[in-house]
Amino acid sequence: METYFIETWGCQMNVLDTQRLEGLLQQHGLRPAGRAEDADVALLNTCSVREKAVQKVLSRLGELHGARQAGGKPATVGLCGCVAEQEGARLLARSPVLSFVLGPGRVAQLPAALDAVAAGRRVSITGFEPARDYDAHLIARGNSARQYVTAIEGCNQHCTFCVVPYTRGHESSRPLREIVREVEAVAAGGGKEITLLGQTVNAYRCPATGADFGDLLQAVGKVAAAWRIQFVTSHPKFFTDRMIDKIAGTPRVGSYLHLPFQAGSNAVLKRMHRGYTREEYVRLVGQIRAAMPGVTLSTDVIVGFPGETEADFLETLEVVSAVRFGQLYGFIYSARPRTPALGYPGRVARSEAGERLERLFEAQSPVQLELNQALIGRSVEILVDGPARRGSEAWQGRGPDNRVVNVQGWPGVAHGQIADVTITGATAHSLLGELRPGGPGA
Ligand code: SF4
Repeated sequence: METYFIETWGCQMNVLDTQRLEGLLQQHGLRPAGRAEDADVALLNTCSVREKAVQKVLSRLGELHGARQAGGKPATVGLCGCVAEQEGARLLARSPVLSFVLGPGRVAQLPAALDAVAAGRRVSITGFEPARDYDAHLIARGNSARQYVTAIEGCNQHCTFCVVPYTRGHESSRPLREIVREVEAVAAGGGKEITLLGQTVNAYRCPATGADFGDLLQAVGKVAAAWRIQFVTSHPKFFTDRMIDKIAGTPRVGSYLHLPFQAGSNAVLKRMHRGYTREEYVRLVGQIRAAMPGVTLSTDVIVGFPGETEADFLETLEVVSAVRFGQLYGFIYSARPRTPALGYPGRVARSEAGERLERLFEAQSPVQLELNQALIGRSVEILVDGPARRGSEAWQGRGPDNRVVNVQGWPGVAHGQIADVTITGATAHSLLGELRPGGPGA
């Protein structure tokens, strides 16, 4: 029997796409191998959000080419994910080791790509169809207690720095009933924490009924077997009062909300085409916190966007100190192909952008530490992921606010267990916990 291996780079959407690809490969009669160099079929499920994505792919393809010349494997190499969509046939022409290219909107056509390869053809299958196939029943979910379910694919926002609308296509929401059925099936199969996915998950609109994201969350919250529901990523401009109330009123929704603000200067936000001002963002945060007391907010920030001045950057720092995020993901602006910002004047020197990124983290770190220390003495329910590190005696899980909790010396614990722990210590990036009397829970 032939074997496969998939290398996954990038975001949760890619993790889920890998599970879809895996399901299709298994249906095609393949079984997993330990690494790409030992597999008959190797797939690279790539990400193009950051710079040098193509170079990284070419370098990995070069390694696989070497492995094939030395040992004959992998005989088939497929390029999937966002770099596949971005480069398409260009990479096929450039890299002789590549057997096929398959864009993220064409995952369902993996069997067709493999058939073409078997017939001696090299194919590039990219682009987006108006209606997407979504083969939920074929997803190879493994036995993880943490599972993803797609609510909406693609993005229509065209933020001027972002490649996603080009690599993942236009927005396409799945019917609400289909999503709820999938959540039911995933929960029945052992999924405890289910995360609804979308680049702009709260832009969700059921194509059949017009139900919005608040309605979807409410419906998913009724799936009793799903222990906890999370969702990512929310766009500030799609929240409505009604949606916030529905999220706040839905049982089992985690106390975690990822809400990228990207920049604190209105001039920069406008050039980014984000669709909100700094004042609107801060107001929204207040509204969310009033409806969901105790919610932990995380965010994304870009520094060094073309034309960003020191004064603009200081406004970003002001938002960071005003909002007090539980987690912050900071990035240096990275010029991406086809995006409008590529042609914007006012390129910020890499050294200056790097220095701003450091200052951003310096501003965030004490806030994060303070917020984490304030949790000492509290009890939280965590979902266990596994050992904190290979060979470590500590176990790691996450609470409802997505914070990592490490628990020392815990005999008999297993992945997927739910446990009550008391927080006993904190760093800026994780918490330390002790099992509460009574031992692990469900
Ligand atoms: S909302 Fe903006 S940043 Fe997010 S995926 Fe869409 S275009 Fe990219």
